[in-house]
Amino acid sequence: MTKARSAIIEILAAARAPLSAASIHESLDFTCDTVTVYRTLHYLEAHGLADSFILHCSDHGTERYYTARAEGDGESLSHRHWFHCEKCHRFIDLGACTLENLVRTYENEYGIDVRSHTLYLTGLCPTCRH
Ligand SMILES: [Zn+2]
Ligand SMILES: [Zn+2]
Repeated sequence: MTKARSAIIEILAAARAPLSAASIHESLDFTCDTVTVYRTLHYLEAHGLADSFILHCSDHGTERYYTARAEGDGESLSHRHWFHCEKCHRFIDLGACTLENLVRTYENEYGIDVRSHTLYLTGLCPTCRH
């Protein structure tokens, strides 16, 4: 594993919220160009170690966010679901994916082989609701 690869995995695993490539780049404690950061993130996703999704919010615009995969129920690493507050722009971790049964139902009903899905919810966090 290259230095960038292990460093980025560490940053993603320690993060309590999805991170943009720019903030991952800022978190690195050694010099590394952005091309390497993007290439490494692409590698991690292709090898099932990270997930990403694109989210639009009024504060940060349209941005791709990366997260580490987490230990799920089964033997494979599971992705997580996220809530994004549209007012204060913080993320809330909704935990590991629990949609396995729904995905199986879709596969049986439509004869499809589901390889991935992305779920994030947006709205108001408990603080901003009041
Ligand atoms: Zn909020
Ligand atoms: Zn899911």
